[in-house]
Amino acid sequence: MDETPRLAADRMLMRLARWLRLLGADVITDASLTGAELLKIARADNRILLTRDKRLRTAAGVFFVEGNAIRTQLREAVRRFRLDPRAIALTRCSRCNHLLTPVARELVSRRVPPYVFAGHDRFAQCQECGRIYWSETHPERIHAMLDSIAF
Ligand SMILES: [Zn+2]
Repeated sequence: MDETPRLAADRMLMRLARWLRLLGADVITDASLTGAELLKIARADNRILLTRDKRLRTAAGVFFVEGNAIRTQLREAVRRFRLDPRAIALTRCSRCNHLLTPVARELVSRRVPPYVFAGHDRFAQCQECGRIYWSETHPERIHAMLDSIAF
């Protein structure tokens, strides 16, 4: 559990990248790069590239994702990288992959819905994009998705 997977996801797998970040994985993406270009960056940065590009299938440092559907893709990645599908980490921003840092409750009062502010004590913020997270960010959606996968 202490080893955070270091990954990169090509532009066909942006949605998968967001899900893997919710489970605590460190996943870089860059929609402007091809899979081959991102693979170079991933290798230099000690990351495994997740791709659906068949030309990269047998390349070193690549995890070829077989599935077309997000559920299948997530199942494959969770197994391969031994992620805990029940552990919503909320350590990383699902949008931009930056680490979240705790933020004082009073500082978020105007930035989250009132019912959220009233019902939560602990908040975290992405230092890159400013998005605010709390312990139950989208819990129903996340758990419904994970439950439907049947790991
Ligand atoms: Zn962010």
